[in-house]
Amino acid sequence: MTETATREEIHDLAKATLDGLFQFVENEVLPLEEKFRDVLADERKLFRDDGRLVDEVAEARLSVRKKSAAAGFYAMFAPEEIGGGGLPSLASVLILEGLYRKYGPGRLFIGWSNAFLGSPVVGSFIDGPSRMFMSITDAVRNDVLPGLLAGEKTVCFGLTEPNAGSDVWGLQTKAVRDGDEWIINGTKQWITNAPYADHAAIFAVTNPELAAQHKGGISCFLVDAVSPGYSADTVLPIMGHVSSDCGMITLDDVRVPNDRLMGEVDQGFQIGMLGISEGRLMIAGGCVGLSEWALDRSLEYVKERKTFGKTLSEHQAIQFMLADSAIDIFTAKQTVLRTAELVDEITTTGRIPVKEISIAKAYSVERCERVMDRAIQIHGGLGLSTDMPFQEGFRIARTLRIPDGTAEIQRRTIAHQLLRGDVIF
Ligand SMILES: Cc1cc2nc3c(=O)[nH]c(=O)nc-3n(C[C@H](O)[C@H](O)[C@H](O)COP(=O)(O)OP(=O)(O)OC[C@H]3O[C@@H](n4cnc5c(N)ncnc54)[C@H](O)[C@@H]3O)c2cc1C
Repeated sequence: MTETATREEIHDLAKATLDGLFQFVENEVLPLEEKFRDVLADERKLFRDDGRLVDEVAEARLSVRKKSAAAGFYAMFAPEEIGGGGLPSLASVLILEGLYRKYGPGRLFIGWSNAFLGSPVVGSFIDGPSRMFMSITDAVRNDVLPGLLAGEKTVCFGLTEPNAGSDVWGLQTKAVRDGDEWIINGTKQWITNAPYADHAAIFAVTNPELAAQHKGGISCFLVDAVSPGYSADTVLPIMGHVSSDCGMITLDDVRVPNDRLMGEVDQGFQIGMLGISEGRLMIAGGCVGLSEWALDRSLEYVKERKTFGKTLSEHQAIQFMLADSAIDIFTAKQTVLRTAELVDEITTTGRIPVKEISIAKAYSVERCERVMDRAIQIHGGLGLSTDMPFQEGFRIARTLRIPDGTAEIQRRTIAHQLLRGDVIF
């Protein structure tokens, strides 16, 4: 895609890509859902005692990822420079919106489900190739990237620690240089895909003085999960689920060659923000789609269900809920699409839309939570039933208020930008 593609061309590209993606899901993914219907419906069958997916489901997810990669979908959001599809951000959010609008929440082989925040169909910085890999050594390019692009291997993003979440400058994991290697010690927590990842992007303090001044001093290393001293044994259950894809990583004198450094030494924070910024926008796009899915289902239901001799659609209180959800969706969608355009314009404008990315993430997640809540209310008892995916959609929206920057941290970022003089709207 050329940098001069028009908005209409990008919308057309996203639509054509979605058509192919839907075909892929129909042919390759839905039959798997059918095959594993019983297991997927019961988390006691879905997860092993140690919290990981049972082997046959984990293998099926891997097979979806590999097939999606072979079909050109899995790495389509990753930059062309590293072998990805290079889709503009606008196309990416439109594709995620379309995917979640059509298939909704709770689809383990498609996207967000059972506190699984990755998607085996479309990779992102939490598990696959991404912008974070723009600045890598030949060793990483040759040894790691091909496996990620092919969907055969996955990575995880290891920033958060027990004592450093929102405040990343509080990182306690340390990397100390020893000849051609670094020795890493520390603990990471809430790391998505940690229980399954073949590699982990680990953020560690390499210069405590710079880190104390918030001027750098954090580096990012790509660590192999099989390295001696590396373990990711603890899986963390999340919000009403037996398990999740979040886990802890401990690093006990893990030796990493210098050529596994991502970006420049002491400049890992910038690498991290590349991933997190992409993640914020992708979450925002997916949340718009999930919200549309919930409103679509609600519109169908209110025309069927009768109370007091009328369909629900004839009660004004129900109509107002539908209208409020439409207001939420329209405003969130326009915010997300405009923000994606601003991201795509960075190379020409030079302006990084930090404020807008935070607005898009905070706003679309919070609107999605409200839309899901209304969809549950409109469906009455059925809305709460675990046979219906609304409760899963609500949990996903609620969960997404925490990762990639909490709702408060997005507001903090927005306020800091305003106070620095960024009052462009
Ligand atoms: C499902 C899930 C997936 C995740 N995946 C990953 C991952 O893949 N990789 C990774 O590195 N991390 C991941 N995280 C971690 C996530 O990024 C952190 O949980 C998040 O940044 C918040 O950090 P914390 O949990 O330590 O909360 P804290 O930072 O301790 O915050 C606690 C509360 O205080 C608020 N708060 C903190 N500071 C301020 C302030 N200055 N002003 C106002 N309010 C403030 C927060 O908003 C929050 O409400 C994940 C988390 C979850 C829940």
